[in-house]
Amino acid sequence: MINLKRNNKQELVDAKGIRKESSIYKPNQKENFKLSRSKFEDFLKCQRCFYLDRVKGLIRPGMPSWTLNETTDLLLKKEFDQCREDQVAHRLFSKNRLDHLVPFKHEQMDKWRDSLRHGLIARFEDTNIILSGGIDDIWQDTNTKELIVVDYKSQASSYEVKAESYLNSGWHEGYKNQMDFYNYLLNLMGFKTADTSYFLVVNANRAADGFHGVMEFSETLIPYHYDTSWIPEKVNEMIKCMNHDEVPKNHPSCENCAYSKQIFNLVKNKS
Ligand code: SF4
Repeated sequence: MINLKRNNKQELVDAKGIRKESSIYKPNQKENFKLSRSKFEDFLKCQRCFYLDRVKGLIRPGMPSWTLNETTDLLLKKEFDQCREDQVAHRLFSKNRLDHLVPFKHEQMDKWRDSLRHGLIARFEDTNIILSGGIDDIWQDTNTKELIVVDYKSQASSYEVKAESYLNSGWHEGYKNQMDFYNYLLNLMGFKTADTSYFLVVNANRAADGFHGVMEFSETLIPYHYDTSWIPEKVNEMIKCMNHDEVPKNHPSCENCAYSKQIFNLVKNKS
């Protein structure tokens, strides 16, 4: 995808490809350094890209915002916020025999949902690394008072959404990491979380006979038994990686790297 850099006035500007010194990690630095859930996911996918971004300051090409997905999130948030205000079960809870749940009411909820400026925040062990992650929603079990992490997911598939195939799909590995990470952060912050988290999947109906100005969605709650046990080891590996002088190896399955390599070979052979 071709991505041209524009300023706030939407004018084209030079793309520098490198970030400000202040947001770059210096190996073995003592000052606090914030790492978001998405950077942790980058580390899990490709240590080289993570390192080039966090330690060398390279800026990866941006992505256009996914406004349709954002809109389903926004509308779901409005519905759940109404139930949060009234402390009543959402209509989907009764359908799924979860009448004992309510959306969790907390003064920090808006901050926790703000992944860019805040999110859930906790220090990792006794290090200078501050972990963060912006959640979609948190519900609460009114019997046990435990918190339940919820992630809204939008998609368009011709297949019915089923828990087993959804959770076993290779495309959704990152979703499960995400859920594990949010539970881990909440636990670090001192909250007790229930064993089961939920993906609320809204699936656009591609078999409809036309658009007619409306897109129909099915709504499915997918229970997920999260696991946080693997996270500390991986975060320690991530810190070790950042404290190294050597740039890690690239991922052999990455199409971006393969593309850059081919461009480099073509240009080199011509010169
Ligand atoms: S393989 Fe290359 S482009 Fe792909 S994620 Fe890693 S460093 Fe980035």
